[in-house]
Amino acid sequence: MQLGQFTLTTISGGRFLIDGGTMFGVVPRLLWERRFTPDEQNNIAQATNCVLVQTGERNILIDTGYGSKMTEKQRQIFGSEEGDPLVAALGDAGVSVDDIDTVILSHLHFDHAGGATRIDDDGELIPTFPNAEYVAQKVEWEVATSNVPELKGAYPLDNLLPLEAAGQLRLVDGDVELLPGMRAIITGGHTVGHMAVVIESGDETAVYMGDICPSTRHLRTLWCMAYDVDLLQSRRSKPKLLGQIADNGWLALFDHDPDHVAARIKRAEKIEFDVVDAVEAL
Ligand SMILES: [Zn+2]
Repeated sequence: MQLGQFTLTTISGGRFLIDGGTMFGVVPRLLWERRFTPDEQNNIAQATNCVLVQTGERNILIDTGYGSKMTEKQRQIFGSEEGDPLVAALGDAGVSVDDIDTVILSHLHFDHAGGATRIDDDGELIPTFPNAEYVAQKVEWEVATSNVPELKGAYPLDNLLPLEAAGQLRLVDGDVELLPGMRAIITGGHTVGHMAVVIESGDETAVYMGDICPSTRHLRTLWCMAYDVDLLQSRRSKPKLLGQIADNGWLALFDHDPDHVAARIKRAEKIEFDVVDAVEAL
């Protein structure tokens, strides 16, 4: 779709299955199963809706899905796709890995940064996008590469260290301009350095909310993921961000929604926010 002078395209970084309870934290299944019907293993299908932003001068990718490096066992656990779904989806959009000049990572969990690197024909770990600058928040990077045991599963270093070794990493600090027409809003909550990405062109604005509000079913303040490291911060920053989006008529982008990648939202009594116009793909 067109956003001012920019073209936005949904790029699937791959679908996967996950226990529905983990996506809704303290919300009882009796409530969330009305919105996501789980299978017999209690799993729900999730997408990784990455976004290609083409400005006319630049090809920018926001988030990279889980990539192509999972073992067969991991693939079975997550019900994830074989091959390299991200690169395949970019190819379908007429874009090669060489064409991407910037990769913005909302945060560094494996299902957002996994596609940042790949294993080449010689078995070497390399950045997936050889000509890209990878942009991440400094505090997020420091936490993700701290190598403490409790975070190893969330932040496999194979997704991260090759970016730094190749000299392709740019760390930013806080609510900064990332590129002309694109800026960061630190939300925290889901991870310490989690950011939303605001995309502005002409008088149009879209917000990639990342995992602070991963789907159209997560609009309520209390409907947060069990993975959030600071739940109270998520409950503060999510309604604040959704309020800004609703009050300004911006477009909300949902990173894990399997049915709708974007929507306009409005304030609503009792349920806080409601979806106005949802679209299946950009
Ligand atoms: Zn996450």
